[in-house]
Amino acid sequence: MVDPASGRDEVADIRIEDGVVTDVRHVDAPGNTEVFDAEGLLVSPGWIDVHVHLRQPGFDAKETIATGTTAAVAGGFVAVACMPNTKPALDSPEVIRTLMEDVERTGVARVYPIATITRGRTGDEAVDFDAVIEAGAIGWSDDGDTTANSAIMREALVASRRLNRPVIVHCEDKPIATGAMHEGEVSKELGIEGIPAAAEEIIIARDLMLAELTGGWLHVCHVSTGRGIELIHEAKQRGVNVTAEVMPHHLVMSDEWVAGSRELHNTDEAVGLQAEPGDPNTKVNPPLRPQEDTRKLLKALQDGWFDCFGTDHAPHAEPEKSVEYQQSAFGLSGLEFAFSLSYALVRAGHLGVVDLVRRWTVEPAKILGLDPVSIQEGLPANISVFDPEEFWTVTPEALKTKSKNTPLLGMTLRGRAALTIVDGEVQHRA
Ligand SMILES: [Zn+2]
Repeated sequence: MVDPASGRDEVADIRIEDGVVTDVRHVDAPGNTEVFDAEGLLVSPGWIDVHVHLRQPGFDAKETIATGTTAAVAGGFVAVACMPNTKPALDSPEVIRTLMEDVERTGVARVYPIATITRGRTGDEAVDFDAVIEAGAIGWSDDGDTTANSAIMREALVASRRLNRPVIVHCEDKPIATGAMHEGEVSKELGIEGIPAAAEEIIIARDLMLAELTGGWLHVCHVSTGRGIELIHEAKQRGVNVTAEVMPHHLVMSDEWVAGSRELHNTDEAVGLQAEPGDPNTKVNPPLRPQEDTRKLLKALQDGWFDCFGTDHAPHAEPEKSVEYQQSAFGLSGLEFAFSLSYALVRAGHLGVVDLVRRWTVEPAKILGLDPVSIQEGLPANISVFDPEEFWTVTPEALKTKSKNTPLLGMTLRGRAALTIVDGEVQHRA
C-alpha cells in the first residue's frame, strides 16, 4: 500500500465497511467478509485524471459518460475532470447541471466538470465565471483551443483569484499552428506540415504574464516541450500561481512514432513492431515532440516541476481517424494506458512509486479542489489496485472506451488496473 498523504509505503490490510475505510493495518477478516487478495499488487488511493474528454453532450459517437467512466475505472481511475468542448459547450449553469444529472444516472466514476472560459468556446465573450462555479464546475478552460483574446484571459484570471479556482489553458498560437505534427526533422522527412514548439511556448509565456499581472491561478494543460516547462518553472520561482500537468504520451512517445517507431522512450519496455508511417493514431495536440523533449520533460518531472499527470483522454470515432494525416482529428485515447505508461518510468528507475502515486492522486485532488485523498480510517473508500506485472495486449476488444484511437494497438504493455473501488463500490475488477 502506497499512501502519499500519510507517508505509508508498506504491506497492510485494509478493511472497508459500508463504503468507509475502518482499519488500515494487519486485520483478520470475519467469516462473512469479502476478501480481495492484493498480494504483489500496488494499492493506492483512487487515481484522479484532471484532463478527460467524455464527449457528452453532443458527441456520443466518440464517447459517453457511461463508456468514458467505464474506461476510467478500467484504467484505475475513481474520478475524472471532464473538458467542456462538448455540444452544447459547458458554458452555463444549466448545461453543467444537466451533465451532472447524466453522471448521476450513468456514470460509474466521480466526474468533475470544467466550464468554458468563453460562451460557446468561441473566444468572443466571457462566461459568467461565478455562476458556472456555483453550478459545480471546478475551473474554466477553452481546451481544444487557446482563448486568444488577452482581455478575456485577464478577466478569467481575475475571477480565478477571487474564487480560488484554476484557469486551465491549452496553449497553442493558432496562426502558426496549422500543421498536423511537430515541426522538425521528422515532419520534413514525412512531408507533413509541422507545428513549431514555439506555437505552444508563446501562449504559455503570455498566460504566465497574465497570471503574474492578476495573481490568478493558471493551470497549464499537457505541457509538451522542454522550454515550455522551463518557462513555467521560472515563473513559479518568482511566485506566480501556476500549476502544470504532463501526459504519459509526451514522456514515452516522440515524433518518431509518426514515422512508425513504436519504442517507448525513457522506459525499459519491449519495443513494438515498426508501424506504417503517418498513422493518424499518432496525431495529438500538442503533438508528440522529439526525443530530446521527452527527456527534458522527464527531468522536469523528476525535479518536481510538474504538479500532476493527466491523460488528455481524447476519444475519436473511427471515421475521424481513417482519413489522411492532415485531415484526421487530434487526440489519443488515454485512460486505459495511464498506469502501464507511467509505471514504466518507475520500473525503469526514473521515478519513485510514491512520487508516481502522488501525481495521480494527492496533487490532482488539490487542483480540482477536493478533500485530501488518502487511505485512512474514517475516509470514503476510493482505492485503486494495480498489477504492475500483468502483460496485456492492446486490442479494440480489450478496451472499454468507445473509441480505439491509440498508436499502442497491437503492442503488449505491462501493468494494468486490477480493482477500482469508487466510494466503497467495486466498479472494476479484472
Ligand atoms: Zn488541449
